[in-house]
Amino acid sequence: MSKPIVAIVGRPNVGKSTLFNALAGQNISIVKDTPGVTRDRIYADVNWLNHGFTMIDTGGIEPESKDIILSQMREQAQIAIDTADVIIFITDVRQGLVDADAKVADMLRRSGKPVVLAVNKVDNFDKLLMDVYEFYNLGIGEPFPISASSKLGLGDMLDEVVRHFEEEEEEEEEDDIPRVAIVGKPNVGKSSIINKLLGQSRVIVSDIAGTTRDAIDTNIMWQGREYIFIDTAGLRRKNKIKEELERYSIIRTVTAVDRADVVIVVIDAVEGITEQDAKIAGIAHERGKGIIIAVNKWDAVEKNDKTIYKYTSKVREFLSYMPYAELMFISAETGQRLPKLFDTIDMVLENQTLRIQTGVLNEIMAEAIALQQPPSDKGKRLKLYYITQVSVKPPTFVIFVNDKELMHFSYTRYLENKIREAFGFRGTSLKFIIRERK
Ligand code: GDP
Ligand code: GDP
Repeated sequence: MSKPIVAIVGRPNVGKSTLFNALAGQNISIVKDTPGVTRDRIYADVNWLNHGFTMIDTGGIEPESKDIILSQMREQAQIAIDTADVIIFITDVRQGLVDADAKVADMLRRSGKPVVLAVNKVDNFDKLLMDVYEFYNLGIGEPFPISASSKLGLGDMLDEVVRHFEEEEEEEEEDDIPRVAIVGKPNVGKSSIINKLLGQSRVIVSDIAGTTRDAIDTNIMWQGREYIFIDTAGLRRKNKIKEELERYSIIRTVTAVDRADVVIVVIDAVEGITEQDAKIAGIAHERGKGIIIAVNKWDAVEKNDKTIYKYTSKVREFLSYMPYAELMFISAETGQRLPKLFDTIDMVLENQTLRIQTGVLNEIMAEAIALQQPPSDKGKRLKLYYITQVSVKPPTFVIFVNDKELMHFSYTRYLENKIREAFGFRGTSLKFIIRERK
């Protein structure tokens, strides 16, 4: 099942960022070696009890005039309605109920999305609790008193959030159809690719408009196999300042990537690879998805015998943190290599779910250790006892060692390379968990 999305919505200064940071804790976005993404606190992975979810911050509002605040709040609420499974609507006990709260609450209620009402800045549960009851008047259920800055009441609020996931999980149909997300900047050719695939495959199973989420799902049959393509191109908002557009595009990418098994990151060959492409690719990397980098519009590039080589090294350099990603040069316009795209998707899917026997893994590790001695520090040498694969999507390995501190990143990378030499695992990241065993 894909991770649920939780969005935080509320007026300026009610404490959205404070709540976001309190819940995200150390988990704010991003593995450290993924460039670019770390600056934005747009989304974070949160774990509460046995549930993991992705939290999104629908964005800041510039408090200029009351009218503008309300219209921006509506935008923000709409983004949440489009993308989230559960919405946390946050209000401020000190300011009390204000008109804008009531209007946004109406909008949220009409959407039918599960809403959890949080009343923030209840720093003193003895004194301020009476004031919380007023918020029942919003008509969106029980208000949960919290203090984001003192981290009070967050557990009860999260229990309520998680309760809604459980309802959804029961409803959600489980199927084995591979899900492929097509992501990338505007105008790189995402819609063109989907349209071309639809044209070429001839058999269209169905065309389901994403009702609850902000992406369009398209079922495509290819050589007797069904795939679901998740397209993030569908929705575009007008009259938005640039920063907001970028935030929105990242939110859409995160939600599409979360639901996918394989992610196709589309890059414009004419423009060449950019920071923003790297940022988008980084989202799929962090989430351990299968990744195909598709350099599109290859028909429009003037080529000589060195062009492909130059392009390849440029892309690899930009995306040096994901050397495992598959790289393809395609054209949605002419259809060049689109059939091969399906072969690549199949291969990456297979690698995402590949399981290696423990015996074989330990042989590889033993050979690797014999070839290159593990590091030591202050006279103590790293000992590696045992390796086993514990899960797939992405393939995840646990290595038991004598001392975690001695297991340097570079030695893990070395073992990863040895495993890849033996099994390829092309298109998928591998995850390593280091455990101590005395
Ligand atoms: P946002 O505009 O909704 O993102 O609000 P912020 O998170 O930036 O918070 C606005 C102000 O409220 C800041 O000065 C915070 O320190 C303060 N604040 C946030 N949470 C609490 C809280 O639980 N209690 C109190 N007293 N202040 C808070
Ligand atoms: P999206 O915003 O990523 O969905 O991009 P679109 O699919 O709307 O494509 C943006 C523009 O690029 C359109 O004008 C397309 O005709 C053009 N385009 C898309 N794919 C190709 C391609 O393979 N070759 C060329 N030359 N143009 C393309």
